[in-house]
Amino acid sequence: MKKILFICSLLLAGQLVQAQKTLIWCGTLVDGTQAAPKKNMTIVVEKNKIVSVQEGFTTATSMDKTIDLKNKTVTPGWIDMHVHMEEEINPNRFLQSFTQNPADIAFGSVRFAETTLMTGFTTVRDLGGTGVNISLRNAINKGLLKGPRVFTAGKAIGTTGGHADPTNGYRKNLMGDPGPVEGVVNGADDCRKAVRQRYKDGADLIKITATGGVLSVAKNGSNPQFTEEEIKAIVETAKDYGFRVAVHAHGAEGMKRAIRAGVNSIEHGTLMDDECIALFKQYGTWYVPTLTAGASVADSAKIPGFFNELVTPKALEIGPQLINTFTKAYKAGVKIAFGTDAGVYKHGKNWMEFTLMIKGGMPALEAIRSATMNAADLLGEKDRLGSIEAGKLADIIAMDGDPLTDPQAFARVVFVMKDGVVYKQ
Ligand SMILES: [Zn+2]
Repeated sequence: MKKILFICSLLLAGQLVQAQKTLIWCGTLVDGTQAAPKKNMTIVVEKNKIVSVQEGFTTATSMDKTIDLKNKTVTPGWIDMHVHMEEEINPNRFLQSFTQNPADIAFGSVRFAETTLMTGFTTVRDLGGTGVNISLRNAINKGLLKGPRVFTAGKAIGTTGGHADPTNGYRKNLMGDPGPVEGVVNGADDCRKAVRQRYKDGADLIKITATGGVLSVAKNGSNPQFTEEEIKAIVETAKDYGFRVAVHAHGAEGMKRAIRAGVNSIEHGTLMDDECIALFKQYGTWYVPTLTAGASVADSAKIPGFFNELVTPKALEIGPQLINTFTKAYKAGVKIAFGTDAGVYKHGKNWMEFTLMIKGGMPALEAIRSATMNAADLLGEKDRLGSIEAGKLADIIAMDGDPLTDPQAFARVVFVMKDGVVYKQ
């Protein structure tokens, strides 16, 4: 009898929790849409959704819970469109590819994911790792770990010796000849196979490296590394599986081939010229700047011995150019979504991107929109994410201070709700 009563009361408690609304009182609300910031608003959350946004501070009934953010600035949870949840920069990065087992990578990524969520990023797009990032996403979705909502590319795709070839810099007997399963492709058939393999692996999108890159142990940081025909094969196959395609590119030629092939976003885009900018606008391609990565790899390269001797000159040359490219692209009206390349610098500092975007000439309000509505649009999730409006998922954060006048406020996230659950208060 006692046992039955206990179960009944548990069930009743469960129902009460479900019927409960959470009222979030916001001193200032920046809702992620085109709207101007609003003062003294209440967000009403039921289960994992926003059900209404009301003027003034709505009084709670006895059933409801109130969260008082009356002297805070509230925005939608931020979205970082370019992270690597499996790794974090350190001088042993290259050696780790020989010493780390998948479980070692996984334990590290658990901490990186929690740090990312607690600093205000409720959604991330993981643009490449070993594939552990797929398991990380699954564990977070099951509620086993605290972390942002992850959309992952699994293992990135490159060509032989290209930026995403995992055996660059190895001695010959270890290099082998990795194929499409490992993300190394040559020719259109390999491209199709690599995309289909990622579907089988459980990835959410496709990432390719259309040009050389900074941190790969290879000489060239900007040359084209895919033919246009290969990129077209990637894009066409990706469409069959409902995947979007994100493209790492520093050099102009690789960028042009990728944009013409119909990809969704260009990452970094360091050496974009006027012709690139015109193509971005013609095709409606998104630009994800990763300014934090540019600044931080250039800083790390100044520490003697931090990078491999092939990497150091690339980091010093490419890194500092990014912010000027950003300013040029922004002024020209290229569509910009927020992305930082977290992992190339320490996780949890993603907010620095806001300060660099503002330094590069973008108003703070637009920088917030790039990390909310714009990012949701590029993800293909703007019906669920990116703004504080009725019907959206309850991803809501708050900062101490006013980020519109003080960029350092982006570092002061004091409240985090993801999917209706409070993780930080
Ligand atoms: Zn990256």
